[in-house]
Amino acid sequence: MKQKLLPFFDERRANVEMIVLHSTAFEIDEALRLYEAREVSCHYFIGSGGDVWRLVEESKRAWHAGKGQWRAITGDINSCSIGIELANSTLGQTDFGSVQKEALKKLLKDILHRYRIKPENIVGHSDMAPSRKADPGKAFFWKELAAEGIGLWPDLNDAVGWEENDPAELLGIIGYDTRDLGAAALAFCRRFLPEKVPEVSDVWALDANPGRADDALFEDEKFWRVLRAAAHKYRSESSTPCRI
Ligand SMILES: [Zn+2]
Repeated sequence: MKQKLLPFFDERRANVEMIVLHSTAFEIDEALRLYEAREVSCHYFIGSGGDVWRLVEESKRAWHAGKGQWRAITGDINSCSIGIELANSTLGQTDFGSVQKEALKKLLKDILHRYRIKPENIVGHSDMAPSRKADPGKAFFWKELAAEGIGLWPDLNDAVGWEENDPAELLGIIGYDTRDLGAAALAFCRRFLPEKVPEVSDVWALDANPGRADDALFEDEKFWRVLRAAAHKYRSESSTPCRI
């Protein structure tokens, strides 16, 4: 692992219980310049070539998440999370490379050995801040991670016959802040149903405005099936820390 420690951190005010995954369009040199300019940071950075950089010690509070909430964790997510950034030139709109994927899996497994992190608390930036953020992007490989025991993925055979039809209720069970329901629903799709996320012509615009689901999504049969299955999964399997 390479190391370039940044001065943008302070002391944690809570124990680590969460991982927040991000993407950036920049490789390490440019990303470091941006972190310097904005006085932000993350614990680890993974370049598209699989190079892993430590930027802030895990014991410290890096400045990566900003305002947001996930499940019962509200407010100071930086204090209780480890932040990992992945370079992707399209901000996660197109696939991450296999070398980079393997580097992240290895790093996550190492982290999960050292902390008691529940699978439902491995999230994307867009999950915990749906009205502000669109990263790590719809091409992020959540399903592949879940297949290795990292995080949760819905089983479409679950929740058959479950008629719950309040989207805020279901998204809330998973962990989303639903005060902006359209933003939460689109963040859900970015993670669990990327085929329903509209193509954007200008990926840079996503950084300022992640967008909201349009009304048609709430009429979509597949959306409901995946949403109910995900809520079922998060409700029933979300109590024990990951053991990998
Ligand atoms: Zn981010």
